[in-house]
Amino acid sequence: MARSYSEILRDVRASVRQLTPAQTQEILAASPETALVDVRETTEWDQGYIVGAIHVPRGNLESLIEAAVPDRNRPIVLYCAAGARSALAARTLAEMGYANVASMSGGFQQWKTHGLAWRLPPRLTAEQKIRYSRHLLIPEVGAEGQAKLLESKVLLIGAGGLGSPAALYLAAAGVGTLGIIDFDTVDLSNLQRQVIHTTDRIGQKKVDSARQTIRALNPDVTVVGHEEMLDAGNVDRIIAGYDAILDGTDTFETRYILNDAAVAAKIPVVHASVFRFEGQLTVFKPYDGPCYRCLYPSPPPPELAPGCSVAGVLGVVPGIMGLLQTNEVIKLLLGIGDSLAGRLLLFDALDGSFQELRLRRDPACPVCSDAAVEARVAGRPLAVPGFGADVPFVLGASPNGPPPSAASPLAGAAGGRS
Ligand SMILES: [Zn+2]
Repeated sequence: MARSYSEILRDVRASVRQLTPAQTQEILAASPETALVDVRETTEWDQGYIVGAIHVPRGNLESLIEAAVPDRNRPIVLYCAAGARSALAARTLAEMGYANVASMSGGFQQWKTHGLAWRLPPRLTAEQKIRYSRHLLIPEVGAEGQAKLLESKVLLIGAGGLGSPAALYLAAAGVGTLGIIDFDTVDLSNLQRQVIHTTDRIGQKKVDSARQTIRALNPDVTVVGHEEMLDAGNVDRIIAGYDAILDGTDTFETRYILNDAAVAAKIPVVHASVFRFEGQLTVFKPYDGPCYRCLYPSPPPPELAPGCSVAGVLGVVPGIMGLLQTNEVIKLLLGIGDSLAGRLLLFDALDGSFQELRLRRDPACPVCSDAAVEARVAGRPLAVPGFGADVPFVLGASPNGPPPSAASPLAGAAGGRS
């Protein structure tokens, strides 16, 4: 028996759970795991969409939904322009085994009529759509994520062993502003690992050399050079406005100065260091995990922290660690995945192995504890240990530090120059 469109739609609407725009908004607020799926065509999406929606046009619904929402028990709310296509799509998803699917009645038109929040899609140029096409294909990035990267500002402390691979991949990813702080010049001995520089640039400022490479790789990226040494007098000014900091510093003093300022400015620092065949990596996310001082309350004596220029390093190790840092930075910028905040990742190039240690905040930390926050708010100076203090540096000695079994690889790694 032939059935008309309106008959089919009436039956489908009767069998599919319908939500009003107001109910949809409540559900999205109450259970953020709910997937809001826009099934309209791309030309409609381009005119505006609900914030947080995933775009899966109805024409490709069956083939794309499993990649977009792999978990069939995840609650899904579908919407289209007026509520008909989303009801039909809901029936299809139910047939595919999706257990908790609803359709928003009235669709995007009614959502807008009710004055609820929506936005226009980020405008990427035709060239950007091609350049970042592999990002755009990933639901966790997409055009919105790419636009976020283009608006992001990342500060690289050093254009050396860690900073070089990081700068290359951050630039390639389209992170719009890269600040680079380095006062050094390119040296022949740098080129075994500092891959952003080239032989013909020996003697040039590292900031200029890095800028040249980045500009050639991706003209979307603005490089802000800071040709100065990070110190207590300039750190607040230099780090202001950055979304994340990638720490490739090679001195303890700089790490402490950076840590204390970044905690105060609430900027996450992705930290790595290397030593011969070993590397270590963690994320210092202010007040959401330990800071550098929680782990290393005071600097080690220089003899316990030989730099790469003394101890050497396999060139690929800072490359690997610098890219793992970059991965953490990009996750932070996009707000996806689990960061390494509170976890220390140890890499051993000879074994080809990774180990992970749990890290905790030190409730008595002179920089990130509640008492330190209060002191900062009140404008009182923080009681941080000074440099050259006669305090023996023993990794693992802090009640919250890594266990003593890890002390020997860490002792070098913590101080290694990149
Ligand atoms: Zn701390």
